[in-house]
Amino acid sequence: MNYVLEINRLKKEKNAVILAHYYQEPEIQDIADYLGDSLNLAQIAMNTSADIIIFCGVHFMAETAKILNPSKKVLLPVLKAGCKMADMISPTALKRYKEEHPNTKIITYVNSTASVKALSDCICTSTNALKIIRHYLDQGESILYCPDQNLGKYAMALEGRNFEVWNGCCPIHHFLDPEKLLELKKKNPNAKVLAHPECQQKILSLADYVGSTKQLLEYAVKSEDKAFIVATEKGVIHAMQKACPDKSFILASPTLSCRSMKYTKLEDVYACLKDETNEIIVEEEIAASAKKALDQMMKLS
Ligand code: SF4
Repeated sequence: MNYVLEINRLKKEKNAVILAHYYQEPEIQDIADYLGDSLNLAQIAMNTSADIIIFCGVHFMAETAKILNPSKKVLLPVLKAGCKMADMISPTALKRYKEEHPNTKIITYVNSTASVKALSDCICTSTNALKIIRHYLDQGESILYCPDQNLGKYAMALEGRNFEVWNGCCPIHHFLDPEKLLELKKKNPNAKVLAHPECQQKILSLADYVGSTKQLLEYAVKSEDKAFIVATEKGVIHAMQKACPDKSFILASPTLSCRSMKYTKLEDVYACLKDETNEIIVEEEIAASAKKALDQMMKLS
């Protein structure tokens, strides 16, 4: 079966739209109507006139799209596609923290479950995290940034101010070896290093530019440099190479591959669209509280 043809036929027939994250396999990126990072895609979903949204990414992303678009049917092609970072904080643990620190504002990275978002004061992304953290610190608030310790520590270093960070991380970015990156820099002296702030400080200190996935892509497009070492999930290289065919991109390590992001295949997209299975449902009360925290982010960013 030609899955691409069938998916396109079903998309028209059912008035569906396909959103794909930059970390998806190239074949999925290429059939998507929109490619982006998690929040960017959820916002695109808010403006779509489609009845069905197929979210090719991981679970928390489809949940966020559903929270922002409660009237749409949001489908996740592979239900087991989770996020290790999101799993590093449970609503029970966060509730306990809040009981022990009743005056602390909770700022939560978008890579979190709906139940954790629902317990938060404000959500943020890697693009707007600094601005949001600064807003609360300027108001004299004590804050907890969760669940990504690395993005939190990066913001602390840039701000020169302290706050609490949860002990979570994205293992894909966290375990990137700085020695290997140094070797690669030596072998490619003209290549600029682009790194995601989910990497540890010892990697970020070797980077020429640090930014969210979307910012790294925009930087590569605008830069006059011709070669880049990319310290983030390997899927983004496909998008970079397509946007800049005359430039070269070297993945900082073969370990920069998120298994969950690679679960989705064309046959899964086809099956989920054909049978309208794997619908994402978020409990009403949780969705309402999580939406408040997401709205607060939109207000502050
Ligand atoms: S790359 Fe890391 S943060 Fe992104 S989905 Fe995979 S585990 Fe989660």
